[in-house]
Amino acid sequence: MKDFKGLTRSEIINLLKKDGLQSFRGDQIFNWLYQNGAENFSEMTNLSKDLRAELNKRYALTDLQLKQKYESIDGTKKYLWELADGESLESVYLPYERQNRHSVCISTQVGCPLSCSFCATGFSGYVRDLTAAEIVDQVVKIQADISQKEFGTPRISNVVFMGMGEPLLNLNNVLKAVTIMNDSDGLNIGMRKMTISTAGYEPGIRQLAEENDQIGLAVSLHAPTDKLRNKIMPINQKFNLKDLLAAVNEYIDTTHRRVTFEYVLMEDINDDPHLAEKLSRLLKGINCHVNLIPANPVADLSIKRPEQKVIDKFYDILSRNHLSVTLRREMGTDIQAACGQLKRSSQ
Ligand code: SF4
Repeated sequence: MKDFKGLTRSEIINLLKKDGLQSFRGDQIFNWLYQNGAENFSEMTNLSKDLRAELNKRYALTDLQLKQKYESIDGTKKYLWELADGESLESVYLPYERQNRHSVCISTQVGCPLSCSFCATGFSGYVRDLTAAEIVDQVVKIQADISQKEFGTPRISNVVFMGMGEPLLNLNNVLKAVTIMNDSDGLNIGMRKMTISTAGYEPGIRQLAEENDQIGLAVSLHAPTDKLRNKIMPINQKFNLKDLLAAVNEYIDTTHRRVTFEYVLMEDINDDPHLAEKLSRLLKGINCHVNLIPANPVADLSIKRPEQKVIDKFYDILSRNHLSVTLRREMGTDIQAACGQLKRSSQ
């Protein structure tokens, strides 16, 4: 059964036409899904009863089931969803009230095959890729949950593909989801307000640059040498720093966009001042921004956050070396919703 949640507006219209149904209803159905948050065809009351019955018979609509919701004191919400096959995944809502920004961090795979040493998702293994519909539905469901009087108010403004999984290993479904979420008659989330985060899957960076030059790219770097990065991020054994930075430079040349490098600071692992110097040299001349993220505690993985003075020193070195750098304000740590803390089971 074709799933309408994984189709763009024009694909819905074409499918209806091909199946001998009223194709002009495609726009209405799309609006019901993304401007009203309808969860099933029966809710689409401006369609005739017969058409609704026909839609119910012929097509599916992904509908993630909320298993658990955690709310942080800072307003962050973490959602644990159950998928139709019984698998589960997490996504996070991050309100930045002062900037009037409503961000979601969503997952692209159930589990992850890349096994980064600091990450609860990688620790729990890889199960499968998410469909485009499952990616989109995380945003739709969170939009419904945060909406006050009507669906879409306040409106989700930013999407980061930084939850469970490596987005570039599921790029086709991710880009399909991006197209659906970007539609101005639907969720209307600006292409430039979406960011894909990668652990360094080099062929995916090149493919992204070719296929979509609007969406943002963030690269999880976490180490300035191959020796250290091999330990923290096993993907580096396949695509080393030289390969990775060559792909990043190509991405910048093609898209003319600045890239963000994420660097999770872990005590006694990658927080030494000489590594900050090395990082500065490595990134010199690249049109980039560095986001320092003090590590979050993950049960079972003995990762610790460095002391504040160590974090500050690392920051100062990068800054003194003229890198654009920010220290990420952590949100949702109390509900295990921060970077590297998402997993497939509840807390
Ligand atoms: S950090 Fe990202 S890429 Fe690495 S294991 Fe976790 S989810 Fe996968």
